[in-house]
Amino acid sequence: MFENTHFPNAKKYWHMGRFVEWPTPITHPLSHALHYGTSVFEGIRAYPTDKGPAVFRLSEHIDRLMYSAGVAKMTVPYTKDQIIEAIKLTMRENALQSAYIRPLLYYSYGNPGLVPKFSPVELLIAVWEWGAYLGEKADKGVLAYIVPWRRIHHSQIDMRAKLGGLYVLSTISGLTAREKGCDEAVFLNLEGNVAEGPGENLLLVKKGVVKTNDRSESILEGITRTSILQIAQDLGLKTSVGPITKKDFFGADEAFFSGTAVETTPVVQVTDGSEAGKEAKVYTIGDGQVGSITKQLSAAFRDTVRGKTARYEKWLTYVRD
Ligand code: PMP
Repeated sequence: MFENTHFPNAKKYWHMGRFVEWPTPITHPLSHALHYGTSVFEGIRAYPTDKGPAVFRLSEHIDRLMYSAGVAKMTVPYTKDQIIEAIKLTMRENALQSAYIRPLLYYSYGNPGLVPKFSPVELLIAVWEWGAYLGEKADKGVLAYIVPWRRIHHSQIDMRAKLGGLYVLSTISGLTAREKGCDEAVFLNLEGNVAEGPGENLLLVKKGVVKTNDRSESILEGITRTSILQIAQDLGLKTSVGPITKKDFFGADEAFFSGTAVETTPVVQVTDGSEAGKEAKVYTIGDGQVGSITKQLSAAFRDTVRGKTARYEKWLTYVRD
């Protein structure tokens, strides 16, 4: 039996068209994905609105899930519309007002070899209540640590896909950052520029301009990142997309992470541990406080996902029809 201690209010998950009680396992330990990381997944959030819970940018998330599945050469047993319906159904079944939603496609049980010839692709959807990803301190700003491990380069694998196996790097880097007394890791890319966090993008503010990078810097272009850039432009802020150097990061007036899990989380300090063997240097971002543009964008994002801004209601999918 499995407790749901770290998955608050999760009651049932959806697997291949039926609901399973949360404590009940359905996968064989010799399933392909468990051994080789052969899964693709999404992280999606639903928020309470005046019209009941709504999922933020569900269509874009399922497009990315399908794209990732294509990169992993999966034959997906459901259409995009069926997956969207299954997610809404799972939200209703668990009766959650806000949730983190995790669809996972994985090569299941069949054969032991690397090529999953006889391992069918299965779909799982789980929902639970997940608060601030980096803890309550996230509001005041977190401490970032640049790890010595570089982000996998976009010439090595298609980094637009969320491939389960790639996240072992994120886990190791997240653990490294915490070992060093910080809250979250940041990767450089092979060019030596700042890439992103283990599960989130990085945005900077310098002289009023909101800056981030793109896929040419070996990052996953997050749906949150893209939404924030749009919101910033609509608020009349200047934005710029291009490589971010370490100097840009250390000299930024403001910095924040963006992503479905972290939403917007300010970064107030960064430790450069990127050069193994050299002493790590600590830099304060701006004056070490959460900056005003970060606050403005975070508030606008919070309103957007809760259906309080009419122009972005198109980004919401209501759970109840
Ligand atoms: N980068 C990585 C590596 C991620 O895993 C995520 C989370 N999906 C992001 C960035 C942020 O993407 P999104 O805003 O779409 O959640």
